Amino acid sequence: MQGGPPQIPCPACQAPLVLDVDLLTSGASLACTNIHCDARIGIAQESAAMLARALQGHRNLKGVTH
Ligand SMILES: [Zn+2]
Repeated sequence: MQGGPPQIPCPACQAPLVLDVDLLTSGASLACTNIHCDARIGIAQESAAMLARALQGHRNLKGVTH
Protein backbone atom coordinates (compact mmCIF):
# COMPACT_ATOMS: atom_id res chain seq x y z
CA MET A 1 0.00 0.00 0.00
CA GLN A 2 2.87 2.39 0.79
CA GLY A 3 4.47 2.52 -2.65
CA GLY A 4 6.55 5.63 -2.33
CA PRO A 5 5.68 9.26 -1.74
CA PRO A 6 2.14 10.48 -2.46
CA GLN A 7 1.68 12.18 -5.81
CA ILE A 8 -0.99 14.40 -7.30
CA PRO A 9 -1.40 15.47 -10.92
CA CYS A 10 -0.67 19.12 -11.59
CA PRO A 11 -4.04 20.87 -12.08
CA ALA A 12 -2.59 22.80 -15.01
CA CYS A 13 -0.47 20.31 -16.98
CA GLN A 14 -1.23 16.94 -15.29
CA ALA A 15 2.45 16.29 -14.59
CA PRO A 16 2.78 14.06 -11.52
CA LEU A 17 3.88 16.12 -8.54
CA VAL A 18 5.40 14.49 -5.52
CA LEU A 19 3.68 15.88 -2.46
CA ASP A 20 6.29 17.31 -0.17
CA VAL A 21 4.28 16.94 2.99
CA ASP A 22 6.69 18.80 5.23
CA LEU A 23 6.69 21.71 2.80
CA LEU A 24 2.90 21.78 2.44
CA THR A 25 2.20 21.42 6.11
CA SER A 26 4.54 24.32 6.77
CA GLY A 27 2.19 26.46 4.66
CA ALA A 28 4.51 26.81 1.67
CA SER A 29 3.37 26.11 -1.89
CA LEU A 30 4.75 23.43 -4.15
CA ALA A 31 6.06 24.39 -7.58
CA CYS A 32 5.18 22.24 -10.58
CA THR A 33 8.11 20.13 -11.75
CA ASN A 34 7.33 20.90 -15.39
CA ILE A 35 9.66 23.74 -16.39
CA HIS A 36 7.12 24.91 -18.96
CA CYS A 37 4.42 25.21 -16.31
CA ASP A 38 4.47 27.83 -13.59
CA ALA A 39 1.61 26.44 -11.54
CA ARG A 40 2.07 26.33 -7.80
CA ILE A 41 0.09 24.09 -5.49
CA GLY A 42 -0.64 25.17 -1.98
CA ILE A 43 -3.12 24.07 0.63
CA ALA A 44 -5.00 26.06 3.22
CA GLN A 45 -3.63 26.19 6.72
CA GLU A 46 -6.48 24.14 8.17
CA SER A 47 -6.05 21.52 5.44
CA ALA A 48 -2.34 21.45 6.15
CA ALA A 49 -3.08 20.74 9.79
CA MET A 50 -5.45 17.93 8.81
CA LEU A 51 -2.87 16.47 6.45
CA ALA A 52 -0.21 16.65 9.11
CA ARG A 53 -2.49 14.80 11.54
CA ALA A 54 -3.36 12.15 8.94
CA LEU A 55 0.28 11.55 8.15
CA GLN A 56 1.18 11.47 11.80
CA GLY A 57 -0.60 8.11 11.92
CA HIS A 58 1.54 6.74 9.10
CA ARG A 59 4.69 7.92 10.78
CA ASN A 60 3.65 6.28 14.02
CA LEU A 61 3.05 3.02 12.16
CA LYS A 62 6.59 3.16 10.87
CA GLY A 63 7.84 3.83 14.38
CA VAL A 64 9.07 7.29 13.54
CA THR A 65 8.38 9.81 16.24
CA HIS A 66 8.67 13.53 16.10
ZN1 LIG B 1 2.10 21.90 -14.09
